[in-house]
Amino acid sequence: MNTVEFVCPKCEKDNLAELSSESEQTIICEHCSHSISARLSTSMQQGGKVDRCVICDKIRFYVQKDFNPRLGLLIFALGVIFSYHTYFLSLIIATLIDVILYKVLKTVTICYNCRAVYRGFEEDPTHRGFDHNLAMSLVEKEEKEKRPETVTAKT
Ligand SMILES: [Zn+2]
Ligand SMILES: [Zn+2]
Repeated sequence: MNTVEFVCPKCEKDNLAELSSESEQTIICEHCSHSISARLSTSMQQGGKVDRCVICDKIRFYVQKDFNPRLGLLIFALGVIFSYHTYFLSLIIATLIDVILYKVLKTVTICYNCRAVYRGFEEDPTHRGFDHNLAMSLVEKEEKEKRPETVTAKT
């Protein structure tokens, strides 16, 4: 199942939508019923690599492990709490659990522009982890592009 997790441009609430293999599909916000027309690239229709964001049409992505950092901290904290009684064995176990979780968990693809999270698609080896410099340069580029011509508004 291929899904996209995004923030509704209208009500700014989190949404999780399933993407089918159709090239054009409408995603409805589950909170405010705002509809977003999503266009899927050929690759994404087949569940392949994420190459164009269906929410904002941008093509820059980064990858991240689908891991809740708070869960990692919680496991580690438990390891610390019990370390006194277990002669630090719990600490080693907690570290091991974190390492294993990190290895088995899949990666998610995230749009630099709108932070839409794509799950279930094929991993693109050219996508890297979040790059702060790239994110900043994209924002600058965006601002430059906006000046000469008006960006086609999508409602
Ligand atoms: Zn909404
Ligand atoms: Zn996007």
